[in-house]
Amino acid sequence: MSDTDEPQQKTVIGIAFGNSNSSIAFTGPDGKAEVIANEEGDRQIPSVLSYVGDEEYHGAQAKSHLVRNPRDTIAFFRDYLGKSFAAVDPTNAHSSAHPIQHDTGVAFSVQEKTDADPATLSVSEVTTRHIKRLSDSAADFLGKSIDGCVITVPTDFSESQRKLLAEASKGCGLTVLQIIHEPVAALLAYAAREETSHPADKTILVVDVGGTRTDAAVIAARGGMYTLLATQHDYELGGRQFDEVLVDHFSKEFMKKHKTDPRENERSLAKLRLECENTKKTLSLSNSSQISIDSLAGGLDFHSSVNRLRYDLLSKKLVDQVVGLVESVVKKAEMDLMDINEVILAGGTSHTPKLALRIQQLFPATTAVQSPATTTTSLNPAELCARGAAIQASLIAEFDAEDIEQSTHPAVTVTPHLTKSLGVVITSPAGDDGKADDKVYVFLESETAVPARRTATFTGTNVGGDVLVRIVEAKKESVDVTPAKEAKEKVNGADDDEDDDDDDDEDDEDEKVIKRVTEVERVIAEALLKDVKKGAKVEVMLNVAGDLTLTVTARVVGGQGGVRGTVPG
Ligand code: ATP
Repeated sequence: MSDTDEPQQKTVIGIAFGNSNSSIAFTGPDGKAEVIANEEGDRQIPSVLSYVGDEEYHGAQAKSHLVRNPRDTIAFFRDYLGKSFAAVDPTNAHSSAHPIQHDTGVAFSVQEKTDADPATLSVSEVTTRHIKRLSDSAADFLGKSIDGCVITVPTDFSESQRKLLAEASKGCGLTVLQIIHEPVAALLAYAAREETSHPADKTILVVDVGGTRTDAAVIAARGGMYTLLATQHDYELGGRQFDEVLVDHFSKEFMKKHKTDPRENERSLAKLRLECENTKKTLSLSNSSQISIDSLAGGLDFHSSVNRLRYDLLSKKLVDQVVGLVESVVKKAEMDLMDINEVILAGGTSHTPKLALRIQQLFPATTAVQSPATTTTSLNPAELCARGAAIQASLIAEFDAEDIEQSTHPAVTVTPHLTKSLGVVITSPAGDDGKADDKVYVFLESETAVPARRTATFTGTNVGGDVLVRIVEAKKESVDVTPAKEAKEKVNGADDDEDDDDDDDEDDEDEKVIKRVTEVERVIAEALLKDVKKGAKVEVMLNVAGDLTLTVTARVVGGQGGVRGTVPG
């Protein structure tokens, strides 16, 4: 650019990339984010690609091919990105193209062209194609080519998944300015509405009930910075399970009349699923909904209706599960429900009135619960991520290349927190029982916001001598502690396992005993305390600074001196 040129305004967008749906948004000159409809007029664009003849279909059109052409229709692929074939759960892809093993990852085999062999499309390739379609829709709508985007992903997306996502976008010529967490984007969408430039400090719970999963996060907003305090996920709870209760309900009704179960035929089931999803959405707005399907099974049509009361009863268990997830994430953040100042319900399923009302009931009346059923001024929960991403994109659009490199790091919007738990292991000379105590004491749980400081005391040694204090990164592992066959009888009933099985005696052969144990992942620092007296207490203090620099102090209580060391973050 020459010095005299006016700086060219970059055209940037926000993309919410969901397993079920994606959306695109941009921030207008008035600073307001708007969700863009694609050529078909959809703002929630199904993350689906379908190959029919020589054509590639995308979005709602592709989704409708789940009935006639399921094997060449790729759906629910986002969470497969960067995962090995062994690590993916194929359940959601049961009625669409099945994931197959490909190199180190996952792919789909589809009949892409009529006169060619089936094509193997890696998840990265499918992602590139999907993002290209989204970016093209945005370019069409805005009448300009798109220079960059901010994409939202769940909080448990790994570093390698983020990298692959950025590469997949690059593959279609779209630069990813930043990848941000979905709950942070939801927060940004609401924060943008606040009048003041200094949003109030508060603790917010974001509950995202999507199509295939439910994620909850507790976030501390302090001085305009956000810290994720705790997250919780349920990969088997989402809008699809809500659809399924209606599928079962109507199938039973159909069977009563016609003695045929539509769930037994793949095509009938796909038809019923699509219609039940529509019925479910209508029930979020009205007290009853009709369902009408031509030739559902055995050439027979199906017409019926359901009211909201009935649906609420049918879906009660699922709502209970979401409530359970909310309670557990607040507990994980070491907080009480009373500590939450605001609740934001995100994701399409958060339109469900009963769900929103049940969550509202958990909190005092002073806690604002943002959802269409609880607040008249709420934003559309399915649009929050795209809006937040668009707002963030407009804020960082003018970053130069170096800044962009740095800005792909989540710390730009999320203040640092520990990604791993920090623990202490005290190793001392063996006591009377001849065993050294190598237990890991977790000091600071993962996702603790920093700066943080903790002090604890331990018994140094039962016999006297040198005591080694090790500061470690700790991880929780599931360990198979199935007793050896001959020892089994003794062990039965004396197990302190959390996941106790009470039917021990029966099927001895295959029964596994799994225990959660905390293990050392990496030793970060060591301090040796010499000649510690028998029974003396050892005090350990950990201080993690805002830049994650760790200072460790270990000393014998009542003794002289001690050991102090610093480890850079
Ligand atoms: P995930 O990644 O969990 O699959 P997503 O972020 O891709 O989800 P969303 O658009 O947030 O997808 O949620 C999709 C789910 O929301 C679908 O199950 C859809 O049926 C449901 N949904 C959308 N609108 C409504 C509505 N009005 N009432 C009830 N459910 C709805």
